[in-house]
Amino acid sequence: MSGPVLADDVPPESASTEAPALALEITPSRLTEVGGHTIARALPQRSRRTVGAWCFADHLTPTSATIGIGPHPHTGLHTVTWLVAGEMLHRDSLGSEQLIRPGQLNLMTAGHGVVHAEETPPGFRGERHGLQLWVAQPEVTRHGPPTFEHHADLPRAEFGHATVSVLIGAVAGIDASPARADTELVGVDLELRPGRSELPLRAAFEHAVVVLSGEVEIAGTRRIGPAQLGYLGLGRDEIELRTDEPARLVLLGGLPFDETLSMWWNFVARGHDEITESYRAWRAADERRFGAVSSPLERIDAPRPPWLRD
Ligand code: MN
Repeated sequence: MSGPVLADDVPPESASTEAPALALEITPSRLTEVGGHTIARALPQRSRRTVGAWCFADHLTPTSATIGIGPHPHTGLHTVTWLVAGEMLHRDSLGSEQLIRPGQLNLMTAGHGVVHAEETPPGFRGERHGLQLWVAQPEVTRHGPPTFEHHADLPRAEFGHATVSVLIGAVAGIDASPARADTELVGVDLELRPGRSELPLRAAFEHAVVVLSGEVEIAGTRRIGPAQLGYLGLGRDEIELRTDEPARLVLLGGLPFDETLSMWWNFVARGHDEITESYRAWRAADERRFGAVSSPLERIDAPRPPWLRD
């Protein structure tokens, strides 16, 4: 349920934006079409390419449509799938076939290359709502082999007026998530009930929030709702959240990612040459490069990178 990153989102190459301290920047997500349904892309933005190593955040707004993304490749990133309603079926070139339901986490590591498809499970009818996130892999792991993890149970706890699920990393003394993280990272789902909740944060991390439903007041100042990115900067040792109605949000954070990324289509790399190599291998259907996945959905062709003329 994630789409590609094209020049409408960000230029494929540019230095990452400095992480200011105690920021509260609220910027609109870009609405785009993926698999026949509108999604709100909170990351990347021209003014904000990464939050920690989080480099991509697509909010699949609630839909009853049958959506699916056919086989497509990835490099240099982890895909993180999180649903709050509905079901999806993941298949990949490692042979994984995994149904995911709300409260569960799928984490696929692309490393040097992988192919996957995301389908509507046969017979599923109903609403789907969720997030697809990407995490950039650091230099030390990004050339490694692809892997896939499914976590049926994640640490959950009541905290203030919130039910907290720990997707990745650790927060507020709750058990750490078993999900793989190659850099210091946190990802947390918060189901907020009316009232005020304070969640402790690591001040060395930069953080951002993506609201899935409802409206939330942050740090006693501004309100944020769906289709926005709320960037909180570095240096916060807590976040104060207040809502008058039930609301749902995901908090993302991590140590600022200090490697300059190139992101184009479904590839996270370093420089045009790597992306060109991946693009050509996918166009040539080179299964030695990416492997193959069996899916009833159609394979997705890569667009031509803008720097290639042939
Ligand atoms: Mn994908």
